[in-house]
Amino acid sequence: ASSPLPKTVHYKLVLLGDASVGKSCLVVRFAKDEFYEYQEPTIGAAFMTQSVTLGDEIVKFEIWDTAGQERYRSLAPMYYRGAAAAVVVYDITNKESFDGAKSWINELKAVLPSDVVIALTGNKIDLEASRCVSTELAEGYAEDNALLFKETSAKTGEGVRELFDEIARKLPKKS
Ligand code: GDP
Repeated sequence: ASSPLPKTVHYKLVLLGDASVGKSCLVVRFAKDEFYEYQEPTIGAAFMTQSVTLGDEIVKFEIWDTAGQERYRSLAPMYYRGAAAAVVVYDITNKESFDGAKSWINELKAVLPSDVVIALTGNKIDLEASRCVSTELAEGYAEDNALLFKETSAKTGEGVRELFDEIARKLPKKS
């Protein structure tokens, strides 16, 4: 017997976080497996898709990468509305960006349904020597707030695939 065609399910995913934490680079690493040392700043938001295979299902992420600049912050609800998952990114070498991530998480938890998967992501782990936010601190915060937690490097690719795989596994099933 021939195996059935895998079913494709679509999920909207949004990236949030301060400017320069590496949101665009994470999306480019995940979607194209590339890294650019000079990544053009995102104006407003950018859109890309990428899929992961999960058992007999193809999970297709429709990814919205938002601009981190404060002047675009009021636009963010337009992008996270209807999202199944949110990746909130900070830079492990920048303590302020971790505070920024916490403030994004508070906002998301206040307005999004409780089944939305929120993944706290500490990026730039290739810069371990300059780390300011310990894994333990961030992991503890994620546990207390029932978030997925992952550390990544968009530059080396470490953790990036795993991040999106874990999100795919956590998503509520669509029938
Ligand atoms: P965004 O504003 O959050 O979208 O950040 P970008 O993706 O534009 O990245 C900001 C800067 O950080 C760029 O110069 C990137 O090359 C750099 N960057 C992004 N991810 C990493 C990473 O994992 N490691 C290192 N060393 N630099 C990174």
